[in-house]
Amino acid sequence: MKFTEFGFDPRLMEGIEATGYENATPVQEQVIPLILTGKDIIASAQTGTGKTAAFLLPVTNMLLTAKQEEHHINALVIVPTRELAIQIAQNMEGLSYFTSVSSIAVYGGSDGNSFSIERKALSEGADMVICTPGRMISHLNMGYVKLSGLKYLILDEADRMLDMGFNDDLMKIISFLPEKRQNLLFSATMPTGIRNLARKILTNPAEINISLSKPPEKIRQEAFVVYDNQKIPLVKHLLKSKDFKSVLVFCSTKDNVKNLSRELKRAGLSIEEIHSDLDQETREKVLRRYKNRELKILVATDILSRGIDIEDIDLVINYDVPHDGEDYVHRIGRTARAETDGTAYTFINEHEQLKFHLIEELIGMTIHKAPVPEQFGASPIYDPKKSPKRHGPPIRSGNRNRRR
Ligand code: AMP
Repeated sequence: MKFTEFGFDPRLMEGIEATGYENATPVQEQVIPLILTGKDIIASAQTGTGKTAAFLLPVTNMLLTAKQEEHHINALVIVPTRELAIQIAQNMEGLSYFTSVSSIAVYGGSDGNSFSIERKALSEGADMVICTPGRMISHLNMGYVKLSGLKYLILDEADRMLDMGFNDDLMKIISFLPEKRQNLLFSATMPTGIRNLARKILTNPAEINISLSKPPEKIRQEAFVVYDNQKIPLVKHLLKSKDFKSVLVFCSTKDNVKNLSRELKRAGLSIEEIHSDLDQETREKVLRRYKNRELKILVATDILSRGIDIEDIDLVINYDVPHDGEDYVHRIGRTARAETDGTAYTFINEHEQLKFHLIEELIGMTIHKAPVPEQFGASPIYDPKKSPKRHGPPIRSGNRNRRR
């Protein structure tokens, strides 16, 4: 379906064309017309499907074409992480470039300056505010945020927000909103918590289900069954095996990120790390350099696994087996976006075999176990049913409240 068929305002069409979109993605095709009718929506859609534009475009169009309250916030997008807030704000800036619709990301930062910029925008009004829950609460507590004229509420990655313990913050923010408004809820998964939240805040919603928790088919997936001490040499070996342009390595712990990153730096590679011990400014700087291709390899914790859109990553390495199937899909979904193909390698140590097997069951496919090159010595036999008991957290703890 062409974007011209939605009947968008010409100023918005100009932004869509300048961003380079021609045809709507399947999510957009289903969601945009429904949103334009004014209905509440609950949609399960993975990142990478074009879900951001699926809500930004119709909401922006409605903001453009209907009379809005001036000096008020008209649309509020609540997201789990600062990185996602920044990314959505950037997408919005591109799409709305030729319109008069204003937007601002409110996600906090370490300096007082950003707080006062946000304060000014929130008290003077911005058509669309894209925020993280904690930071919004800080502003709401000060009493100057004008939400009484709000028309559109969007919750993105709602499952992630609940996982991170934001339920009470969300309900508090919602208590400041007028009752009559359009609500759009996007979530990768639909656990009971999300159903409960939906019941509380949505009115007679249309339900759209696009995500199947399956990785895109064009990603070449392979796994290596290894001992922990074979992982660093194997990463180095794989990095040399092909001229990869942009590589993302996910580790489950900050310590693994730091160790691997130190070793790769020692080997003279173009690499930086991202994890929650780094301040926001450093994280953003690293991410920017990586996106601009000044940096070839990024080693990160799951802080980066969801929602972050970086184009043309050709290799994702799971240095550790991800926590569960959704994390696996999100991590490897960083590669093979839009038009490109990608490769995803997962390392499985002797304690992680059962966990990997469960992931394979969840995504409904068996991943090829590639032989570990001979020079690394003997590697473990893959036999998930006999896999020794793991140390550390259980396979699905249900508590993903940890800082990554
Ligand atoms: P998202 O799922 O929102 O993270 O989007 C994934 C990527 O697809 C982003 O780079 C978007 O800019 C891009 N994208 C979204 N919609 C379209 C479209 N209709 N045509 C081409 N690219 C798109």
